[in-house]
Amino acid sequence: MAQIIDGKKISQQIKDELKEKVESLKAEGKSGALAVIQVGEDPASSVYVRNKKNACAYIGIESLAYELPEDISEEELLELIAKLNGTKQVKGILVQLPLPKHICEDKVIQAISPSKDVDGFHPQSVGAMTIGEPGFLSCTPAGIIQLLKRSGIEISGKRCVVIGRSNIVGKPMALLMLREDATVTIAHSKTQNLKEICKEADILIVAIGKPRFIGAEYVKEGAVVIDVGIHRDENHKLCGDVKFEEVEPVAFAITPVPGGVGPMTIAMLMNNCVQSIEED
Ligand code: NAP
Repeated sequence: MAQIIDGKKISQQIKDELKEKVESLKAEGKSGALAVIQVGEDPASSVYVRNKKNACAYIGIESLAYELPEDISEEELLELIAKLNGTKQVKGILVQLPLPKHICEDKVIQAISPSKDVDGFHPQSVGAMTIGEPGFLSCTPAGIIQLLKRSGIEISGKRCVVIGRSNIVGKPMALLMLREDATVTIAHSKTQNLKEICKEADILIVAIGKPRFIGAEYVKEGAVVIDVGIHRDENHKLCGDVKFEEVEPVAFAITPVPGGVGPMTIAMLMNNCVQSIEED
């Protein structure tokens, strides 16, 4: 039976460590708030925003909620970000994505001061990560590194295949695995012989965005499989990009959905907020 990598437990450990750190920072007179901006009322975004506010409350940092109407102009949103960039108590700014079509996401991401870019999406944060300079790391990939390390899984020297090359998951994931000395291959929709490439992986990270796409035929016996996908299946049950029941018997270790990668993203967002308060 494969080791089930417990993201719920590991994310709780991280949040408990952060809670202690926030207390000691407060004792040094250091505190700060996370500004969370939501445009419109998309139900999935509302759930993510609520979870982020709850995590702030748990670790003991203030969260400031900005719930803006769907038809707010790009200019007004950029003005709010500029105001928050200049507000000393605000140490992190998060704009919940996706945004309505009339607002350019890249423009919004680039308007956030890199010193408050706790999502790690600003080109300066991405550049810093690429060359190994200090900066905020993209939360989901950073969470996966923590899952591996805290589960005792060696990364250095291992062959890693990342399926997916999005700016928020696949690309930063591959860079962070490289930084941990893995030998990394990135696969995407134009990749040929995907099965053969995946079968070479000691660590297979799946961020393909297609429900239950990866079956046992893609996985080498004894590989570690990380499933980033989140979907609702035909019965409205959560599932990932991996066929868990089929892959689990072949794998050495595997993340479940839910309870694997998902909870780590918020824990790492909190980590970035605490880092921002600490560095101020
Ligand atoms: P995305 O932007 O849709 O990217 C999917 C990637 O998979 C693309 O690079 C695409 O290649 C590649 N791909 C698609 N079909 C493929 C195929 N048949 N063979 C090989 N590669 C293929 O998705 P994302 O934002 O990275 O997210 C991926 C998944 O993770 C989604 O299910 C999302 O909901 C989930 N997610 C979870 C968390 C979390 O906290 N757990 C956070 C973020 C995302 P091309 O570039 O060639 O199109």
